[in-house]
Amino acid sequence: MRVIRIVEGTSVDGPGLRTAIYFAGCNHHCEGCHNPSTWDKSAGQEMDMDEIIARVEEAGFNVTFTGGDPLLQADEISRLASELKLRGYDVWCYTGYTFEDVVADEALRPVLDHIDVLVDGPFVLSRRNIGLRFRGSDNQRLIDVDRSLKSCSVIEYEDTDY
Ligand code: SF4
Repeated sequence: MRVIRIVEGTSVDGPGLRTAIYFAGCNHHCEGCHNPSTWDKSAGQEMDMDEIIARVEEAGFNVTFTGGDPLLQADEISRLASELKLRGYDVWCYTGYTFEDVVADEALRPVLDHIDVLVDGPFVLSRRNIGLRFRGSDNQRLIDVDRSLKSCSVIEYEDTDY
């Protein structure tokens, strides 16, 4: 997997302290993106599953996939998320695709089987809202993936700590 960096103990990428894994590459190129240096698919370094899991286990925090768009490496992050779920971690994933895009794309859809919350959609500068938790613009949603798949409709994550 191509990883730009791993940050342990972040509090802005989901509830509680988390390990954020920044994956390389993004095709969305949103105006106002806070991190355009992540767009390059060859940025960062190659890390294998064992190395990443070791970093996660050393920190002991739940995990957020961010970037970049982690779904550019859908097969790899699907397997990583599956391993993390087996070890009991809560897994959030940011993406510039909408939930509906992901469900409809057979290459991306398997990721959803191993993700607790999908933070979906591109950053839209005209809809930027600095008061939102865990997202930058109000078109983006915090989606409870399991409940949404079971109900065949988008059900948003209940942010009970807020
Ligand atoms: S999806 Fe995220 S990383 Fe990609 S361009 Fe948009 S804001 Fe930047």
